[in-house]
Amino acid sequence: MHLAHQFLDKLPGALGEAVADVARAELGDSGRPHRAAEARRILPLRVSAAAHYCRQLSEEVSSWVCLMVEVLNFLYLGGKKIIGGEILTDPQRTALECLIRSVEDFLETEVRVPAMGSLRSDLGRIRFDYTGEIVAVMEELNAESVIACWPKVGEAGMQPAEKFVSEEVKEWLTKPRSTLLPRCYWPSSPPRSRVRASDEEWEKLVRAAVERNMMREVNEEDILRDQQGRMVLNGAGAVPKFKQIDGREVRLQRFISNLVPSNSYQDHMAGDDRHLPYLGQLAMLEVEPESELLVDSEDLTSCFNLFTLPPQWAGMMTFAKQVPSTVFGGPPDQMSWVGMNVVPMGWINSVSLMQTVVRQLVFVESDIPLTSEISKIKPFPDDASASLVYLDSYDEIRRIDTAYRGLLEGEESERHSRFTSTCKRFGLSLNTGKRLVGAVRGSLQGGVLDGQKGVFHSAPEKQASLVGYGLMLLSQEQVSEFELRHFAGKALFNMAFRRPALSIFESIFYDIEALSKLDGPGVMKDATKDEIFMVIALTPLLRMNLRAAVDPQVTITDASPSGAGGGVSDAFKREVDTEDHDGARCFYCEKELWEDKYPCPSECRAMLCSLDCMWRHRGMNCRRRGYPVPKFGERFSGPRHPLSEAVGQVGLIEVQPPYDLSLGHNFFSDEGRARLEELEHDPDLFCEHWAPCCKLFSKARGRPIRLDDGEVIYGPQAVRDERHPMGFPWLNREMKQRLRHSNTMANRSMSRLREAEQEERIATLEHPYGSWLWQWHQATELDSGLLGYAVRRDAQGRLQFDTEEEAEYPMGWCKAYAAGLRKAVEAKGRHLETVYEGRKSWVMQELQESTQRLREETTARLMAGDVVRLEKQMVPGSEQAHLKEMLRRLTIRGSEVKLLFRDSEHGEMPYPAYRWLFRKAFSFKWQDPEIHINEGELNAFLAMAERRASDPSKHATRYLAILDSQVIRGALGKGRSPSRPINRGLRRAAALLLISDCYPLLAWTISRWNWADAPSRSFE
Ligand SMILES: [Zn+2]
Ligand SMILES: [Zn+2]
Repeated sequence: MHLAHQFLDKLPGALGEAVADVARAELGDSGRPHRAAEARRILPLRVSAAAHYCRQLSEEVSSWVCLMVEVLNFLYLGGKKIIGGEILTDPQRTALECLIRSVEDFLETEVRVPAMGSLRSDLGRIRFDYTGEIVAVMEELNAESVIACWPKVGEAGMQPAEKFVSEEVKEWLTKPRSTLLPRCYWPSSPPRSRVRASDEEWEKLVRAAVERNMMREVNEEDILRDQQGRMVLNGAGAVPKFKQIDGREVRLQRFISNLVPSNSYQDHMAGDDRHLPYLGQLAMLEVEPESELLVDSEDLTSCFNLFTLPPQWAGMMTFAKQVPSTVFGGPPDQMSWVGMNVVPMGWINSVSLMQTVVRQLVFVESDIPLTSEISKIKPFPDDASASLVYLDSYDEIRRIDTAYRGLLEGEESERHSRFTSTCKRFGLSLNTGKRLVGAVRGSLQGGVLDGQKGVFHSAPEKQASLVGYGLMLLSQEQVSEFELRHFAGKALFNMAFRRPALSIFESIFYDIEALSKLDGPGVMKDATKDEIFMVIALTPLLRMNLRAAVDPQVTITDASPSGAGGGVSDAFKREVDTEDHDGARCFYCEKELWEDKYPCPSECRAMLCSLDCMWRHRGMNCRRRGYPVPKFGERFSGPRHPLSEAVGQVGLIEVQPPYDLSLGHNFFSDEGRARLEELEHDPDLFCEHWAPCCKLFSKARGRPIRLDDGEVIYGPQAVRDERHPMGFPWLNREMKQRLRHSNTMANRSMSRLREAEQEERIATLEHPYGSWLWQWHQATELDSGLLGYAVRRDAQGRLQFDTEEEAEYPMGWCKAYAAGLRKAVEAKGRHLETVYEGRKSWVMQELQESTQRLREETTARLMAGDVVRLEKQMVPGSEQAHLKEMLRRLTIRGSEVKLLFRDSEHGEMPYPAYRWLFRKAFSFKWQDPEIHINEGELNAFLAMAERRASDPSKHATRYLAILDSQVIRGALGKGRSPSRPINRGLRRAAALLLISDCYPLLAWTISRWNWADAPSRSFE
């Protein structure tokens, strides 16, 4: 790193100048006491103060930390020359500790920055392929060198690939021709590619490949031909491969089939490649205190060579060079075509197929739960053990209790032993050299996961070579496009571990572009040198801190034309559309409430004094007025309707106005019947209770009754018996009229009961125990079990009480009935539906008014449903669980919370930010009134990031950061922006986030739901 310091002094650009200026200024600064506002400042950080702070540490660590401070100051200030206070603030001290740790970790590894000479010669070997990917130069094939790298005889072509694929893949795998593009997309003539081998070497190679089941003979008529009947033939060559044999590095060759010709006729086919995990996803891992991670890893040896393709494929993978037919036991004077028999690496569908096959081996054959998979298209697994399948490897990341490490470290996990036995069963050999068993440190996706420290970064060799290449470029007068591009590629890979660092790159892309137009090397811009230098300096910080806790405090920011505002919150609001009502007085009439209280059935938390006030409240001042609450209706209730009262007091169920003659509803008038029908047709009606007149049903009629004093009286005239349950035919006119009425009422009740049963509503009927009604065939049907359900409900208590028409239900029974009814409503989930349906229409309206994209009703309705589903989990007390869930829903870059809606076509669902109870953190007025809105949004975010970085307790955290600009959310999530002014802001963000070790989880919401909108406008 001393080397790096020398470079810094020589940097001709803004960085070098700024560093020199700051150093001079620091020397000349007498260290005046600072204003109170400076007491919590994080940046700029005085370099000499940092050096002083590190004085006890090794020179190497200390100088690197100072270098980082210089670079972070530069990124933060954008070249402005402002020096930090002489006395370190608390947040600065916390930040320095973090910088020191990262440098110490970085220097701890054995890997050292390679020597310049070896870097140069490596670079010489590499070239780009046609897609811009780096490949080594193709060499002539040498059979001996290639075969040494191939699996042994009996270890390749072990299993047919089609045995391990989904139906979807089998569909095209077994019909190779179905993967061909429509002819109109075919090239005008087959691309040419040759086999780089002499006849002799090629024959040797093919013999070995055939022996290994890796190639097969192809009949000429089976070879893929273009529209003019010309054969489509492929090439082959080798790239160098270095292998340790007996402690000596031997230069061997890797066989490469060049399938560009036949690939250009094929389509990319659907397979499990859509699940391929991305390294950014590990940002969703959280290592809690007292816990650690263990890594288990298995690699299939020479994985692509293990699986054979259906034989028809060889015709689509035929090589341009023939071999003597003797290779296949044919006559010596003939030549044969040869094609691939196993999955070739360069084939357009090999990734799609292999990811399918290995996923099958892991999740189906080894029975490892699919829910544990880290997949690009699934939320991060909420499993103590996460599975990562990446082509030929299966890795497992186990979360363990620190206390158990001693026991578990080095022990094979149960899932891994299942996987290894699956491989054994199918004769698939595993690469023991790469095996990891319960390891504290493991390689994943080109990175290293340290399960104890809880950090994930690029592999040390890659970090070292990044630093080495960077220094090499800085030491050269001129660089080539290739060299610069190569460095950028390495840097971008490393920066994927710490997104904000990507904003460092600006000028380098312009230089690459400019150099590509030159024939030879050229001079880099000063700004590009600065950028290379900054990347080198910050390399130790290009890592994810998986121990960064999820901060319970979420932030929201917004910008308006006049200013910016920000809010913070650590608690959800009380439930949506509810009142903050203590229930001391009636919410409607404000009368003091005593014993009888009627909670609003929509659960808006309003408490009412009576059914009357409840109805008025529901119709007028209930926040949940539109919510469809399940209703209860009482028919023939009596004048005081105690059952309706009891149901009204139990909550969740809205009581319809009771129906009774004494309340002015005459069942036998047109008007009365219309009223009843109106009640019955209420779409929210969920339960009914019927008590039809029972006077003419009593079996006691006509029987003598002995009173308490011994007197015997005769009751009223009998009107029915066993044989005439509908009434005697011989009764007088007036009695017949009464009977008809009585029967009509009873009939209506009975048929409503039956309907309720069919519609899965609840209905009950009350009649005396000794009523002839129970003899009616409708009732016996109920009794016989056909409608037994309804009868059982009926018998909440036993319906044995006074038959007097005027007699009221005892209150105790009403309460029991009401409680039972409430339970039934809860069991059906109807009360939840209520909230759901009611909210949905509000959310839908909000969405439709917010963006053009959501005007369309079906989309808005579906999305509103999803928003409400999420919102329902956002209840006070569940904040932490919700934030963890959001962490699991980060995008693959690991920086954005994207609530993907259905499919990507419908885009993203806005985050229901309004569920948080925010308080103001800041608001300020723009100094520049012409500020562009995007810059404004970014500045508001920066103000919040700075506020957090100034608080040491917020260091090393992840936090949900909500904003309403998709542009700025996207730029922050990516880490860089092609717009210069935005990228300047992103560099400032990078400085703040890197120095405070903070990880914003960026969520987007619509402006209507952005709480910070109001504070941002407070200067209008
Ligand atoms: Zn009232
Ligand atoms: Zn209400």
